[in-house]
Amino acid sequence: MSKEREAFTENDKLVLFTEVDGMCPLCPNALMYEKKKQNRKNFEIAHIYPLNPKKEELELLKDEEKLSTDPNDLENLICLCVSCHTKFDKPRTIEEYKELVAIKKTLLRESKDRLLWNDTKIESEIVEIIKLLSEEDVDLTKEDILAYDPKEIDRKVNNTITPLTKRKIKRNVQDYFNIVKTKFVELDKITPLTTETISSQIKTHYLLLCKEHKDINQKVIFDSMVNWLSKRANQSSDEASEILISYFVQNCEVF
Ligand SMILES: [Zn+2]
Repeated sequence: MSKEREAFTENDKLVLFTEVDGMCPLCPNALMYEKKKQNRKNFEIAHIYPLNPKKEELELLKDEEKLSTDPNDLENLICLCVSCHTKFDKPRTIEEYKELVAIKKTLLRESKDRLLWNDTKIESEIVEIIKLLSEEDVDLTKEDILAYDPKEIDRKVNNTITPLTKRKIKRNVQDYFNIVKTKFVELDKITPLTTETISSQIKTHYLLLCKEHKDINQKVIFDSMVNWLSKRANQSSDEASEILISYFVQNCEVF
């Protein structure tokens, strides 16, 4: 007997819509559009593994990873724009199946990471450092700001970091390590133990991410840490958060 297509609740749809940020994960289409001053849907909920696989689909996907044993489970569902959904279903190909499984796994990981954000907080002083980095015109050529030698980085990163991310971390450490350090010293004079508290919060969040992701990928961890810090510090600058996480890589709280 064929399985029923479940009537998804509004909350399920909201979760799946939010998961992809309102954009089709397979093409640049937005999932809503406006016509005659009304918001209209351009999306459908797609089953990644088919709800009622045909004989040839059973054969095609027999060795492939399934995201859930129940095809109606949210883990097997994804929001797609209408045309990508049609293309994905007809006919199903192994390449497209693998691609969508990989995309959904990334989305699931990102949602899980966001849940961790509730557990790990960061002292408000971090905002002052982010402000300094993002709003003030720091003169990197000033004599008392010596370029820092980012020698720790090579030792700490492995081959799961991308060359671009590694270069970015090194550059950030070189240009900003001393500036950030000086600011931390200043903050400690106002409120003792600020640096130590923030360092341990960074370390804790890093460890939680490692615990969550068994096959630890340094590029994913770095991006996730930056994203977390930026959101935790009032949606402030991603660039400044990158500089700070780079600082903590050099300082050994991260990696
Ligand atoms: Zn699409």
